[in-house]
Amino acid sequence: MAIIGAGYTGLWSAVHLAELRPDLDIIVLDAAEPGFGASGRNGGWCSGLFPVEIDSLTALHGRDAALAMQRAAIDSVEEIGHWINRQGVDCDWAKAGTLTVATNAVQEVRLRGAVDTLHRHGLDDADVRWIDGEELARRVTVAGALGASYSPHCAALHPLKLVNALVDRAGELGVAIVGGLRADAIDDTGISGSLDERPTHIAADWVVRATEGYTPMLRGARRAVIPLYSYMVATEPLSNDTWRDIGWDARETLAEGRLMVTYAQRTADGRIAFGGRGAGYRYASRIAGRFDADDTVARRIVATLHELFPATRGAQITHHWGGPLAVPRDWHPSVVVNRAERRISAGGYVGDGVALSHLAGRAVAAAIAGEGSAVLGLPFVNHVGRHWEAEPLRFIGVNAGLRLPVLADAIESRTGRPATRLGKLMDRLLG
Ligand SMILES: Cc1cc2nc3c(=O)[nH]c(=O)nc-3n(C[C@H](O)[C@H](O)[C@H](O)COP(=O)(O)OP(=O)(O)OC[C@H]3O[C@@H](n4cnc5c(N)ncnc54)[C@H](O)[C@@H]3O)c2cc1C
Repeated sequence: MAIIGAGYTGLWSAVHLAELRPDLDIIVLDAAEPGFGASGRNGGWCSGLFPVEIDSLTALHGRDAALAMQRAAIDSVEEIGHWINRQGVDCDWAKAGTLTVATNAVQEVRLRGAVDTLHRHGLDDADVRWIDGEELARRVTVAGALGASYSPHCAALHPLKLVNALVDRAGELGVAIVGGLRADAIDDTGISGSLDERPTHIAADWVVRATEGYTPMLRGARRAVIPLYSYMVATEPLSNDTWRDIGWDARETLAEGRLMVTYAQRTADGRIAFGGRGAGYRYASRIAGRFDADDTVARRIVATLHELFPATRGAQITHHWGGPLAVPRDWHPSVVVNRAERRISAGGYVGDGVALSHLAGRAVAAAIAGEGSAVLGLPFVNHVGRHWEAEPLRFIGVNAGLRLPVLADAIESRTGRPATRLGKLMDRLLG
């Protein structure tokens, strides 16, 4: 059997499957190399987050299934932690939870509301709770912070170190990993593509597509997801004095409550790695190496970093990078199993794939191994959303939607009132 894509999804699928079925020949192929995609360059939040909000998930699948999905995402964080311990992996793992910090009253109301919604749907204080400014300050000093929502279900990690550990484990289990092999299409007999630019064909009974943001480059999958770029910067290692001011000893992951997505971690080597979305969508889902950096977005991220942590103003920004993540039309991750044709596609995690890829890998492995498993009953299995619109509608709609969070954040901080109408428009254009 063959897996296209050597990111977390492809590698977890291979590792889980090889453990269940050591008799199978498993090949994982990658157009570049393991970890070339988002898995090697993400923000390192291994979180129990699911990109569809719990009330929408409940409306779609019912209360019990939605809660089971959310619980499974949370459990994946624990399971990855156990795996890392068992394998003796060093990937800078620190499971101290995640903070979403409110820096104005509108954000506080929204975040407290989000905590209440999760509680109404079956989570409790042990899963997510509001912490006031004083408790927050004992953890980390964020300028202007009023408080934060806190969930213990998140760990910070070094993304590429986890990829490397998975590659090692896959190798021990006899999985073949081949770089430089680009798939162009999946057909009845396997995969056609090119190896170092020469046409090739891989015969395979089962084929798993684990190509995430790059999926639109595959024949027959052009509108399955769109690639949206997320970008990051990292500071130089900060001085001990700066860290004494900031705190953040436990290395919780951290976001700000603004509508534009932000995410940060204190790295094990004493930097702040800070990320954000806000880049435009490129016509016809184009992906290219030259998009892996964006100076305008980087400047915006650095400005937010300085706002939240003024002590970093004098620190050098030593790194800037980015990459594509995959956004399905309804933002709903899925593992779609076509048993008759022995084809599986897995992914569509938006920005939450570090832990969800582990869960998806378990579903892929159980489906191929023919094992009855509770994971196959989760509502992300065989969830099929609609395709994105054709161009130019897609380009116009997505980019209009992407501009709204910046606008809404500015309105909220100026007026002190929630930008409710813009929020609804955002949902309509992107959700
Ligand atoms: C900057 C950034 C920050 C992020 N931060 C976080 C975070 O903090 N927490 C979180 O949970 N998620 C985060 N994400 C998302 C997360 O990284 C992804 O959801 C996850 O890594 C997806 O893993 P994957 O294996 O499905 O895809 P990828 O890691 O993208 O792997 C896909 C692989 O497939 C290969 N490939 C693609 N097409 C082909 C083809 N045709 N033939 C052969 N090979 C192919 C690619 O080379 C690539 O290696 C972030 C993403 C980005 C870009």
